[in-house]
Amino acid sequence: MQEDLSEILLDADSIARRVEEIALELGRRLAPMAQRDEPVVLVPVLTGSLVFTADLIRHLPQKMRLDVVTVSSYAGATTESRGATIRGAVPEDMAGRHVVLVDDIFDTGNTLSLLDGLVRERGAASVTICVLLAKPSRYEVDLRPDLIGFEIPDAFVVGYGLDYDGLYRNLPYIGILKPEAVK
Ligand code: 5GP
Ligand code: MG
Repeated sequence: MQEDLSEILLDADSIARRVEEIALELGRRLAPMAQRDEPVVLVPVLTGSLVFTADLIRHLPQKMRLDVVTVSSYAGATTESRGATIRGAVPEDMAGRHVVLVDDIFDTGNTLSLLDGLVRERGAASVTICVLLAKPSRYEVDLRPDLIGFEIPDAFVVGYGLDYDGLYRNLPYIGILKPEAVK
């Protein structure tokens, strides 16, 4: 798989260190809510945030629930965003809960903006947006993530949960896909 990458952008150790830092910061923000015994629910946006979420939550000591949502923005073999589509059920029970939306990457921001609106409509007590990656040069919405692991340039990246046509999610690092590997 590595032969399909032109560059490794973030190695596994750098990702692990940063994920721990973000978890500490997120934990600090959630601590007062947890102390008041208010419900916290983490909403991982699948499938891309699977690996990030698995690492993140193991650094969080608070009581919390997980309620996943599945969104797809790239249909099959394309690296162009086509706008977000929610697949399957949207978590219903958001009323009065402190919701943390967790995603792999904030690109145009359309996906998280859509979800942020939905969760607020359903009466969430607060919404925190936590992403591993962000591409500031691509932002199209007013919403901004509360926590960002790494800001990256406008390149199509794979690995650590992020895919191209369903592949490369299992790479332990994040890299830029070679143009030849794009169908
Ligand atoms: P947005 O709605 O912010 O434009 O897109 C967010 C979604 O698009 C992400 O959750 C991710 O699934 C996908 N995406 C955006 N940029 C990339 C990228 O560089 N690589 C991969 N694999 N997916 C991306
Ligand atoms: Mg995604």
